[in-house]
Amino acid sequence: MGKTKKVGSAGRFGPRYGKKQRKIVAEIEKLQRKRHVCPRCGLPYVKRLSTGIWYCTKCGAKFAGGAYVPFSERKR
Ligand SMILES: [Zn+2]
Repeated sequence: MGKTKKVGSAGRFGPRYGKKQRKIVAEIEKLQRKRHVCPRCGLPYVKRLSTGIWYCTKCGAKFAGGAYVPFSERKR
């Protein structure tokens, strides 16, 4: 019944997030679903277990990383 706006998976966020921001979130979530390369074995088998926790299904490495992608692009 409810109308869903064209923001993909970010639609669950309320209007207090701007349209632009929800678009960014949608992009991030698209990234999340991509395979990530494991820092230990170098193979793209890293899955997100939960926020900031990543797990390689190939070698079993479990590590903390960014909330949305395993490794932040920029180091602070
Ligand atoms: Zn691995």
